[in-house]
Amino acid sequence: MEVSLPKMQFATWFKDTSLEINGDTASIIVANSFSKSWLQNHHAKDILEAIQKQEKSVSSLEFTVKKQDQTQRMTLELSPKKAPKSPAETPPVPAKAVIQPTLNASYTFDNFIVGNNSALAYAVAKEAATHPGKKHNPLFIYGGVGLGKTHLAQAVGHEILGKDSSKKIVYVSCETFTNDFIAAIAGKKMSQFKKNYRDADVLIVDDIQFLSAKEGSQEEFFHTYNTLHQNSRQIILTADKIPQAIPALEPRLQSRFGAGIVVDLQPPNLETRIAILQEKSKEKKVVFPDNVLEHLAKNISSNIRELEGALNRLATFCEFNCVSPSISIVNSALGDFISSNNRTVDSSKIISCVCKYYSIGKDDLLGRARKKELVLPRQIAIFLIREQTNKSLPEIGKIFGGKDHTTILHAQKKIESSVLIDSSLKSDIEQIRQNVLSIN
Ligand code: ADP
Ligand code: MG
Repeated sequence: MEVSLPKMQFATWFKDTSLEINGDTASIIVANSFSKSWLQNHHAKDILEAIQKQEKSVSSLEFTVKKQDQTQRMTLELSPKKAPKSPAETPPVPAKAVIQPTLNASYTFDNFIVGNNSALAYAVAKEAATHPGKKHNPLFIYGGVGLGKTHLAQAVGHEILGKDSSKKIVYVSCETFTNDFIAAIAGKKMSQFKKNYRDADVLIVDDIQFLSAKEGSQEEFFHTYNTLHQNSRQIILTADKIPQAIPALEPRLQSRFGAGIVVDLQPPNLETRIAILQEKSKEKKVVFPDNVLEHLAKNISSNIRELEGALNRLATFCEFNCVSPSISIVNSALGDFISSNNRTVDSSKIISCVCKYYSIGKDDLLGRARKKELVLPRQIAIFLIREQTNKSLPEIGKIFGGKDHTTILHAQKKIESSVLIDSSLKSDIEQIRQNVLSIN
């Protein structure tokens, strides 16, 4: 399946699955019910054929949701807004667990769809939640607007609270921190202010880039930070850029912010966007046909908040007009929204951005010459095409002068492993990706 599918599709739907064969029945064990229904609807036939190539005796295929999914669901049940489910479906809620009011009840790990864009950030955030204050401190999450920074940061808070409801989780936007600070000075309530922040077991400050140029707040935050850090309290920060790129931020803060772990959230690809829409429609308890979700995901690629907004608009439109969602309803309800968002990435854009970035000709990039200065850009182009488009390995092979699919896979894996150790390569790729995504 890995060879025949676009990379992200494989990563999104197949990576966490396993296979068991009992007699003539093959079972695919999947992580959750969304994956189950997606695989059933889209890939059942191909999976069965692939298995039958190896195991002729298999004649039927079933999909089973992994048990662990039920324990993960418990966090979801903490949400006060959700309607109660039937007893059989509802795992017991820990008696003392209370959601602190500043956390958004639906920003849990359970509701966070992990895709190509967020796998590392998610894994690291989970680890931070498992070992608060010990493993990744501070946890610094950066990325563009609407890509899930707040959601992920709060998910850590929820998870820690779910395990121990006595923990004090303080979540503030950077602006709230700054305003609180100013109010505390004005009202001579500094000791109360300090206590509130320095007593936290977990401090989450969202959009920390707004500390920029605010000297007094930076000074105060520096002390808050040090107190918490010295006491091994977990600190989570989010921003739209890496610490070193935040302007007018004291160097001592910059270095502290980068001293734990810095992870990024990138724009999600098509499969991840579809998965997110499925999750959101499930949360809303509204059923949208698969083709409608796919249509939305194809046409709105800029950020997850807009994707969600479109889904809400569509749901309201349908309810109000008593119609059921279809592609033509999407177009009439969201026409302008969709056309202003319509930015599909095609491989030729990627190729021209890579050529421009490295000042090389298109024929050289797509050709067969093995010169060093061509090989890396070629591998990067292949990597980005795998990431941003739905092309399969053989299709990409064709674009690059009839290369074998294994060569394409090799190039992709090469870059995947190189970016982990080579930060300048990583930033080159990020820059090219931005260039690609900013072409209309
Ligand atoms: P940011 O803080 O980066 O601007 P948010 O965390 O506020 O973005 O996310 C915007 C919206 O998109 C929220 O409603 C959030 O629940 C949703 N969202 C973002 N990422 C995901 C994801 N991976 N899975 C599910 N929902 C997501
Ligand atoms: Mg945010």
